[in-house]
Amino acid sequence: MEKISVGVRFRPSTSSPHSDSSRQWQISDNAISLCHLNTPISGYTFAFDHVFDASLGNAVVYRVLIKSIIDAAIDGFNGTAFAYGQTSSGKTYTMNGSEMDPGIIPLAIKDIFDTIHKTSEREFLIRVSYMEIYNEEINDLLVLESQKLPIHENLERGVYVAGIREEIVSNAEQVLQLLKLGEENRHFGETNMNARSSRSHTIFRMVIESRAKEEDSFKEDTITDAVRVSVLNLVDLAGSERIAKTGAEGVRLKEGKHINKSLMVLGNVISKLSEGGKQRGHIPYRDSKLTRILQPALGGNAKTSIICTVAPEDVHVEETRGTLQFASRAKRITNCVQVNEILTDAALLKRQKLEIEELRKKLMGSHSEVLEQVLLKQRNDMHKSELERDRLATELEEERKARYALEHRILEQEKKIENLMNLSVSAHFSSACSQKKVGERSATPDEAHFLAFDHLKTPNFKCPSIDFVVRRPSYKELESSPIPDNFADVADEDLWTRLNKGRVTDLEAFQMTPPLPVQEFPSSETSLAHAYSRNNDSLLILFYTIIKLTSSILISTDPPLSISRSLSRSETSASNTDLRCNALPRPSRTSQVPSQLIAIDHCLW
Ligand code: ADP
Ligand code: MG
Repeated sequence: MEKISVGVRFRPSTSSPHSDSSRQWQISDNAISLCHLNTPISGYTFAFDHVFDASLGNAVVYRVLIKSIIDAAIDGFNGTAFAYGQTSSGKTYTMNGSEMDPGIIPLAIKDIFDTIHKTSEREFLIRVSYMEIYNEEINDLLVLESQKLPIHENLERGVYVAGIREEIVSNAEQVLQLLKLGEENRHFGETNMNARSSRSHTIFRMVIESRAKEEDSFKEDTITDAVRVSVLNLVDLAGSERIAKTGAEGVRLKEGKHINKSLMVLGNVISKLSEGGKQRGHIPYRDSKLTRILQPALGGNAKTSIICTVAPEDVHVEETRGTLQFASRAKRITNCVQVNEILTDAALLKRQKLEIEELRKKLMGSHSEVLEQVLLKQRNDMHKSELERDRLATELEEERKARYALEHRILEQEKKIENLMNLSVSAHFSSACSQKKVGERSATPDEAHFLAFDHLKTPNFKCPSIDFVVRRPSYKELESSPIPDNFADVADEDLWTRLNKGRVTDLEAFQMTPPLPVQEFPSSETSLAHAYSRNNDSLLILFYTIIKLTSSILISTDPPLSISRSLSRSETSASNTDLRCNALPRPSRTSQVPSQLIAIDHCLW
């Protein structure tokens, strides 16, 4: 969307400098005010984007207001520039200019060809036509025979004048020649206000076609078949006039009426368009040929500039005010401008292919790829986290197991120590009891010492009492105690633990076998234990401790009831010589116990 660009231009005053007029138009920046004795008069102040005082030439007006439209037309946008104002305000001067001060049309022609020659990548085709609307009839100014041409409209070309001659031109001079020819054919007439008054609206039209040059056709992103077509209208309107002022009559009067009518319609169209979207209603383009032809330029697909020319004299104050009001409305109009391109089927296919390729690149290069990468990274991170979690869980489980095993082992060790202590103490008291019963033998000083301080000593280092070794009925059958030849054959605690699979003796259920009646103590010399005791051999003590330990473990492998039963049985059997065997685990469990060890234990019991 683009607003119509509007500028106001004052022509030099024709009044005498010594005029006694008290009212004057004053320009301050872009504001115009009618002042009475330098005081602005209410209702006569206007503001515009561009105001040109009388000192400024056509070149300035062109550069400020028109050049952008010409450049856009070369790039494929429709463009329109026209001069509007009362008669003799300088419209024709602005559009055509003079030899010294070329107007907008010659400046535009020169500019267009200069730009085209600099644009090497495109080739151009320019067609020129020149027409006038005289008494509401369209005449071809380049071909005198072409008069009263009709206006047609179709989808492809829009609104166009049928049968108008379009000269193909290749340089500015050629165009200027045609312009000159058309000026000669234009209707002028003398009025009181203008010796050469334009009695018609003229439309100088340039159709600019362009496309990329052939050598660029090898580039993938170039569509040589696409042709840009833009229409540039440079319009010099006939001026509104008051019959009283112009003194028109006859033909001039008729002309004047047509001029005024078409300008009035133009004013209505501008007024409607300036009202904005919903309030617009019907736009009366068809009410005049001028507005019909200028339809694309007014509220359509065109960049448009309007130069409102005004006369500064006091006598034209009301016409000037009317022109400024027209300009104020026109500057509110917004157009929708777009490049006009004509595509062949091949060009259309090529363009679609390029667009698809571009979209694919965008899709690959922008969001989807980035999102995919982010997604992949998150998946990897998640997988790593899961692995780490599994590893930690495994480590935790192993630590739990190790801890449990350690606790179990500690518990076992404590139980064993407790068992050992209990067994040692029991054996000690049993021996003491036996000694008392026999009463035939008094303790030696060493033995008395041990008995006295037995409860203070640890079981492992307690010296075994000589009373512990008892004679069994079958003892005499043995020639000697079967002391192991090699201590390595003795099973250690670990072996026993493994053999009994960690089972623990319930000491509460353990019933000590009462001391068996003995016939006679062997002499202290023949008692092996006594001998070792006397020699205070620590190795033997250790051996004894181990044997007791293994014994307790073997007993512990049986359930308490079994132990109790076996022990009870042993109590009733006077000839029982192997208490230990009764307390042994079931055969299947003891099958691996070395027989030598059983023998050792038997001997000690
Ligand atoms: P219009 O076309 O609006 O009826 P013209 O362009 O014919 O009026 O101008 C009327 C007269 O005023 C002409 O003689 C023209 O040379 C002169 N004139 C208009 N504008 C200027 C200007 N800016 N500088 C010099 N002379 C001008
Ligand atoms: Mg004129």
